[in-house]
Amino acid sequence: MYNIVMIYLDHAAATPVSNKVLAAMKPFFSDEFFNPSAAYLPAKRVSAKYEAAKGVIAHAIGAKASDIVITAGATEANNLAFSCLDREPVFRVLYLSTEHDSVRKVAERYGGQPIAVDRNGRILLDDLRSKITDDTMLISVALANNELGTIQPLSEIAAIIREIRFERLARGIKKPLYLHSDASQALNLLSVNVARLGVDLLTLNAAKVYGPKGVGALYVSHEVRLEPQSYGGGQEMGLRSGTENVPGVIGFSEAVKNACEHLNSNRKKYTKWRKILLSELEEYELVNKKHSLDNFVVLCYNGIDAERLIYLLEDREVYVSTGAACAANKGTKSHVLAAIGLSDSEIAGSLRLTMGETNSEEQIHEAAKLINEAVAIERSRNA
Ligand code: PLP
Repeated sequence: MYNIVMIYLDHAAATPVSNKVLAAMKPFFSDEFFNPSAAYLPAKRVSAKYEAAKGVIAHAIGAKASDIVITAGATEANNLAFSCLDREPVFRVLYLSTEHDSVRKVAERYGGQPIAVDRNGRILLDDLRSKITDDTMLISVALANNELGTIQPLSEIAAIIREIRFERLARGIKKPLYLHSDASQALNLLSVNVARLGVDLLTLNAAKVYGPKGVGALYVSHEVRLEPQSYGGGQEMGLRSGTENVPGVIGFSEAVKNACEHLNSNRKKYTKWRKILLSELEEYELVNKKHSLDNFVVLCYNGIDAERLIYLLEDREVYVSTGAACAANKGTKSHVLAAIGLSDSEIAGSLRLTMGETNSEEQIHEAAKLINEAVAIERSRNA
């Protein structure tokens, strides 16, 4: 399906738009270019198709089109989620210490307090409980982490939140308590349902599911009131003004359909490939041992500089990552790997491989071989 000769193992950073998604988007750049807000028939047709595409995205998470706000990506959706705090004079915010910067940085702006994780990057529920006070209004925990693939027990977190809501009600405390989850990385491998997860706000990202970049969505439950982050024509229920990105949303809906259809076969495929990698790779410590998305393999080569591995592999057209693409790019230490207790030298030696639709089983064997060779070169250089 993809015309790609390299071995790309960085699907957590970006996914290529599939041919099917591209074909679905194409007419909306040309023949069906109309502004959905216009009053004439062709525009109304485009508007109907846009709403139907929103319906498909919403349906995939057990919601309705009117429950989701389309944004220009997950960063914007995460920032918008925190606007539920804007009308409250007093509030406290909790966020998982391993959150993507688009949650962590906005949580810090609102004075947020981090929740600790264990060695696998799983939330410490006791730490969460101990940090919730009567003023806590928002808790943000990603469904799956972008550096480790760690899946969080969201329904257990939601159960704790429900308990606290009841208890607050019994004491006459009116402060709401909301659960937000960034599900950007999850939709390819997990069945995501807002009611089952018990979330009030949920972020989706087209760019991680073989859809276009710069398109995302925020699910907003009926209880939550948000504040617009920009003002204008009043699109997206006034929460996100600006002419709708029709091709982007059509592409997003096609990508979501595809992700839902292939959920089980993808899971099986990546479980098998993960086993191949773990048995054929040599001399590594596995970082994400438990509760991980099947397509994530995080390895630690202690004593080796993983950045050097990346350059050696780049020469062989194998593309991997040392951590979140943005952290790696800035040369900063991964806050996620630090949060799970890795030492500085373990962090420096960590490599993230994220498998995806561009890969084949043959490539997985080849990648294991080429990574082993690169590691051997580095070890002999250091000897
Ligand atoms: N949240 C998570 C978990 C991500 O992995 C990413 C992208 O890497 C984002 C948010 C930000 O997405 P975008 O850059 O599309 O806004």
